[in-house]
Amino acid sequence: HAGSLAGKVAVVTGASSGIGEATALALAAQGAGVVLVARREDRLQALAGQVRSAGGRAEVVAADIAHEDQARLAVERAAAAFGRVDILVNNAGLMLLGPVTGADTTDWRRMIEVNLLGLMYATHAALPHMRAGGGGHIVNISSVSGRGASPTSAGYSASKWGVGGFSEGLRQEVRLDRIRVTVIEPGVVATELTDHITHQETRAAYEGRIAQMTPLESGDIAAAVVYAVTQPERVNVNEILIRPLDQG
Ligand code: NDP
Repeated sequence: HAGSLAGKVAVVTGASSGIGEATALALAAQGAGVVLVARREDRLQALAGQVRSAGGRAEVVAADIAHEDQARLAVERAAAAFGRVDILVNNAGLMLLGPVTGADTTDWRRMIEVNLLGLMYATHAALPHMRAGGGGHIVNISSVSGRGASPTSAGYSASKWGVGGFSEGLRQEVRLDRIRVTVIEPGVVATELTDHITHQETRAAYEGRIAQMTPLESGDIAAAVVYAVTQPERVNVNEILIRPLDQG
């Protein structure tokens, strides 16, 4: 494969739908071998089939990254399958919007465990492989909610602000190992993300808002990931904030 990521290996968490799925396809189209991580294995197998029939390389790892052992195993299996890990796209996440008052605190725990701790576990597991390969690139999918907040985003924003803080410290730590760190902060993207919101009034309000606009498509974010990871090695794209034109 003659793409600009030929010979590279990318692990993508949350590859079974939305932004992760589009990103895995886009990285594979650039020639990267892709390791597809999520819980829904049937969706990952279908995507792997799609990558392979286009001439690419793909491996599937069914894992719940909220569990440290599974997040770690996903990265280790990637390294075992392809012999290296060059790119980790920490994309798996949940957006369980709702007010703090009366919140089901299970929602907060799930978001911290997946959006923040899962991302940290996968990163921790990937760094030794990147160092061994002479460098690497960690791409963390945060959100506009990682920079700002709104009345129903407090719990979600807490998880995504955490991603921002972790990423900035990490960037400064690992740059001398030739490991780059990029944070991507999308606004509204049309995906399955809203399906999991448990606070029904908030979900209806959010879906009503999306219906009034033309949201981003998953491929728009995948293009931002490809931009960041295909820059010359001297270029460390630290942050990309990207909103639909319709979003204020
Ligand atoms: P989707 O719901 O379509 O995708 C979420 C992905 O995360 C799925 O592949 C899901 O797979 C995976 N996932 C969820 N929980 C776990 C888990 N415990 N272990 C492993 N994988 C898990 O939503 P998006 O594509 O929109 O979301 C992707 C990222 O983009 C998230 O981090 C989200 O916060 C962020 N984002 C999205 C925006 C939007 O408007 N859509 C805006 C800003 C940021 P499975 O269920 O199979 O495990």
